[in-house]
Amino acid sequence: MPDLDPRPRDAADPLAAHRAHFVGAGSPLVYLDGNSLGRPLAVTADRLAGFVREEWGGRLIRGWDEGWMELPTSLGDRIGGVLLGAAPGQLAVGDSTTVWLYKLLRAAVDAQLARDPARTEIVVDTDNFPTDRYVAEGVAAERGCTVRWVEVDPTGGLTPELLAPAVGERTAVVLLSHVAYRSGHLADVGRLTAVAHAAGALLLLDVCHSAGSVPVALDQWQVDLAAGCTYKYLDGGPGSPAFGYVAARHHGVLTQPIQGWMGHAEPFAMGPGYRPAPGIRGFVSGTPPVLGMLAVQDMLDLLEEVGVAAVRAKSVAITEYVVELADAWLAPLGVRLGSPRDPAARGGHVTLLHPRMREVVARLWEGDVLPDYRDPGGLRIGLSPLSTSFAEAHEGMLQVRRLLG
Ligand SMILES: *Cc1c(COP(=O)(O)O)cnc(C)c1O
Repeated sequence: MPDLDPRPRDAADPLAAHRAHFVGAGSPLVYLDGNSLGRPLAVTADRLAGFVREEWGGRLIRGWDEGWMELPTSLGDRIGGVLLGAAPGQLAVGDSTTVWLYKLLRAAVDAQLARDPARTEIVVDTDNFPTDRYVAEGVAAERGCTVRWVEVDPTGGLTPELLAPAVGERTAVVLLSHVAYRSGHLADVGRLTAVAHAAGALLLLDVCHSAGSVPVALDQWQVDLAAGCTYKYLDGGPGSPAFGYVAARHHGVLTQPIQGWMGHAEPFAMGPGYRPAPGIRGFVSGTPPVLGMLAVQDMLDLLEEVGVAAVRAKSVAITEYVVELADAWLAPLGVRLGSPRDPAARGGHVTLLHPRMREVVARLWEGDVLPDYRDPGGLRIGLSPLSTSFAEAHEGMLQVRRLLG
């Protein structure tokens, strides 16, 4: 029997001290859903209040010239540099992930159709996040294209071996998630991009479940386009805006469909006719959501200080711990692992399968233990590395064992 005591693990965790800087860390609540909505940092409360009093309240309309207008690209550059391996000038913040997926997928499909009208297929895996699948269906319907579904094991995810036979001279775009929202499967994006490119396709990557948790190297992997949200591992708060990435080689070639004044080359000329701004600015549509971009700056500061490599090391250690607990306590009760067993093939969450998990999660929530539930029968344990302790994971797993036992 392995030693399952959380205390030596917390004592040996080099990131343990950061947990105290999150709101609510001192309460007995067990939070295992930081991959859906991250806990706020305590400094964020001060930043938000200060912003209302001083910047919004004091600077008023002048604020737009004093940094707000540049926030979509200045914050985008920071997210790209700290978390995504992206050189400056390729990211912008705004809209929701869904809207970015639509804009980027439309841009990519249109560019491919213009190059070769036979490229009418959008390739998506059957276990991709619902919004990704629905946006693909919508863009396909709009452009006379079809979605080509790649069947994947819901406890795993899309691999180069599964993708290769699905792409070819009819493929326009491959749309995939870096970390699968259900299983936590971590895609080998470098190899998947090579498979897509060899078939002449573009690759659009959803990094919602990896940004801030798993190292991402968009430039190195030659990813064409990407989108992700800031309210999961980036702790930006409910509904905080998303970001979009367009590789520099596509600037001036790809054009997006929501032609708003903020993406115009001269927004304040207010002239006739749309003319896109050069670079990533041309992918912005409307007024920057400044309030929604405040909290994420605090989390970025922390992630930059700590470094993504250390975050990933903690993430691997704590997900491994949960798998060990599941093997020891829950497997005898009929629970199966719904995530890859190899930590190198897994992101920051672990899914445990049992037919009674829906009821178990409802009971856990009543007792202030907050994991997530995903059909069919999946208890999803999100382990946000900077705000979750081994003791917290241990307590949550104890409660699951109690309810199933
Ligand atoms: C959370 C998540 C989204 C969310 O999209 P919104 O537009 O913010 O609702 C999209 N894709 C994936 C993979 C996600 O995990």
